[in-house]
Amino acid sequence: MNLLKYVNGMLINHQMMSVIRRTLHTSTIALLLVTVLLSGCSNSNLGTDSVNAQGAITEQANGSTTAQAAAPEPVSTDQPTNKEEAKTTSVASPLPLKEGKVVVHYIDVGQGASQLIIGPSGKTILIDAGNNDKEKVVTDYLKKQGVKKIDILLGTHPDADHTGGLDAVIRTFDIGKIYMPRVQANTKTFESVLTEIAKKGLKVSTAKAGLTLEWEPDVTIKMIAPIGTYPDANDMSAVIQLTYGTTSFLFTGDAEVESEKDMVQSQVNLNSDVLLVGHHGSKTSTSEAFLNRVNPTYAIIQSGKENKYGHPTNVVLDRLAKKGIKIYRNDEQGNIVFSSNGKEIIPSVTEWKPSTKSAVPVQPVSKPIEVSPSQATTEQKETVYYKNCAEAKAAGAAPLRKGDPGYRAALDRDNDGIACEK
Ligand SMILES: [Zn+2]
Repeated sequence: MNLLKYVNGMLINHQMMSVIRRTLHTSTIALLLVTVLLSGCSNSNLGTDSVNAQGAITEQANGSTTAQAAAPEPVSTDQPTNKEEAKTTSVASPLPLKEGKVVVHYIDVGQGASQLIIGPSGKTILIDAGNNDKEKVVTDYLKKQGVKKIDILLGTHPDADHTGGLDAVIRTFDIGKIYMPRVQANTKTFESVLTEIAKKGLKVSTAKAGLTLEWEPDVTIKMIAPIGTYPDANDMSAVIQLTYGTTSFLFTGDAEVESEKDMVQSQVNLNSDVLLVGHHGSKTSTSEAFLNRVNPTYAIIQSGKENKYGHPTNVVLDRLAKKGIKIYRNDEQGNIVFSSNGKEIIPSVTEWKPSTKSAVPVQPVSKPIEVSPSQATTEQKETVYYKNCAEAKAAGAAPLRKGDPGYRAALDRDNDGIACEK
């Protein structure tokens, strides 16, 4: 049973609650999480806190699936209230600008994701840290940039290709605030992140839509997802938008169509100059409707050379190219750095262009093609059925990731979201 995976985010019925209670009492990870989440709240014993944690889960089950609802915040006591956030938003005027730049590093961590943001006065944000085996790549990169402290550390969601290097980062650098969505994974990788957080006596604030993160005075950072709770951990990804002057960047984690739909339907202005393409260019993300609303000039794809998932997919590359969006790829171009002076965006490398005929043709169109959200979703739901893995392999479709056409839980024996991987 992999129930623990969604304890923090899922809707829970009464039967499941009893299973979860058992799991909470027996699992090291659960104990660690409770310790970490509540370390800043109280010094009382774990038994009492566990009750509080369960109360929090029940609360989630009963109520709010949107960030607007003012649910009590069990994770962090120093989290600003929604009212305070609103005040911050209206006060934070991005102009006039000081001299200085916001520099965004899309670090090449192979098949995974990691972005370092350095502000005009030198404050830092790190979003994700790639896989476990890339932790030294990330820590070395940060040291080379002169980073001593991460002012905001954001783990978009618990998948190993995002959280793998976070433990080393926490060990190596001073850490300010940590944000993670209310979802966890039953993995050693995630456990070691929680262990490092606990060792340093840090606490985790819940990443959810509606927050405004305090960072640098001239820069506005809004968290625009997750808006609700979702059965797929990818959709629980924290999504943030950074605005500096008239320029903006969108960081999407592995958010997929379900989360994108909610973002599109929310009243948030998604319009951004630079889009970090969701889920490494998987076809389960970057729906037409979402892309129309973001309407970026530049798109960055963080994926590894010849990765087994086939990221980035031609569907997404094609969708970007047809809109005349300039594409940048870690697998083709290594580290990619974008800077903004508040008025314009300056990429460190020239855009990526497909080198073969079979690749995506670049056909800029003057008008965006309007596609309704329902049409965009239909495209994701092709009816493909593989009787078994042999059939999926013969069709060249294996491995199948959750969300891929033809993926079924029955084919995913180890229940890790990837079927027929061997
Ligand atoms: Zn990922």
